[in-house]
Amino acid sequence: MILILLGPPGAGKGTQAKRVEERFGLIQLSTGDLLREEVKTGSELGATAKKIMDAGELVPDDLIISMISARMDAGSGGNEVILDGFPRTEAQAEALDSMLAEKGLSLDHVIQIEVDEEAIIKRLAGRYSCTKCGAGYHDEFEKPAKDGVCDTCGGTDFQRRSDDNEQTVRTRMAAYHEQTRPILPFYERKGALNTVDGMATIDGVFNQIEEILE
Ligand code: AMP
Repeated sequence: MILILLGPPGAGKGTQAKRVEERFGLIQLSTGDLLREEVKTGSELGATAKKIMDAGELVPDDLIISMISARMDAGSGGNEVILDGFPRTEAQAEALDSMLAEKGLSLDHVIQIEVDEEAIIKRLAGRYSCTKCGAGYHDEFEKPAKDGVCDTCGGTDFQRRSDDNEQTVRTRMAAYHEQTRPILPFYERKGALNTVDGMATIDGVFNQIEEILE
């Protein structure tokens, strides 16, 4: 199955992708995570991407397309992939179509997670994750059971994303409206587009996604 999760920053794409991985055995391919890896390893791509990401803008299409195509060629996830954060522009959506056609694959579902934008800004400003295992938390909405200790792995070191501040979030939101939302009709015409209410609880959103995938 090839699934695309679409939605503005903070809609919960990453959280839901992890749930879908566990339940359906798909592999999450997140361009944001891949770029953050590049930043960590200090590659040339990472250095270019860091400045753009910290400004809340989109990394150029050619860099993203070659990064994702290399991953797909390397067989990460094979035919069982959740694309999280990709495609984000019309050029990326077209490039994905060609990549899938070359491999004889087709897109199964596109799920748009709809949310209230002001609520998102609150969500993003409070989020952090465990440095060791990546489990996600929130200052207000999802605290670990024991203060300062990760529920999943017991880690005690946490991190926040450098682009999760209000100014950058607003720029990221604008990029979503200007560059990503216009690709929705493309998928609607293919009959692949579904929309879920992202303001429900994490379980509530996942239940809606489950219904679509089953
Ligand atoms: P995310 O983790 O999906 O919120 O992505 C974080 C940042 O990485 C974005 O604000 C962009 O700067 C960059 N990024 C991630 N995916 C893409 C993409 N498909 N196209 C362009 N930029 C991207």
